[in-house]
Amino acid sequence: MRTLEISEDKLADLNQLGGRILIDELNYEYRVDYESKTSNKITWRCLVVGCPPRCCINGYVNKPIKFKNSNHSHPADVNTIKKSLIVNDLKKEAQLYEDKPTRKIITEKQLNVSIETAISLPSYDALRQTVLNYQMSSK
Ligand SMILES: [Zn+2]
Repeated sequence: MRTLEISEDKLADLNQLGGRILIDELNYEYRVDYESKTSNKITWRCLVVGCPPRCCINGYVNKPIKFKNSNHSHPADVNTIKKSLIVNDLKKEAQLYEDKPTRKIITEKQLNVSIETAISLPSYDALRQTVLNYQMSSK
């Protein structure tokens, strides 16, 4: 068992997955597995199906995390995480500002990330299609 401190900015809100995602210091992603009705305790489980690690945290706040099993069956991929955060951001913005030019939404995102992350992002055309789909769906 190991205990990690998690920083607030790593608690990301990913609507596409129906809830919050927690990212630990080794860049593994977790979803909410169980939320206690009687206490603040929330159990998180690794996003990868069949991967055993779970952890408990007190509420959605910056508290130490206790892992029940820290042996993931797969490597963590920091660029995948950053990518999913950015694409999710893009979708939210597309829904929020359906009349904002697609190019503007995308270039704003591309300019705000490191070169390493920018390289791992989907192509401009793919991002454009994502924005358009979400702008359509919010109409
Ligand atoms: Zn895992």
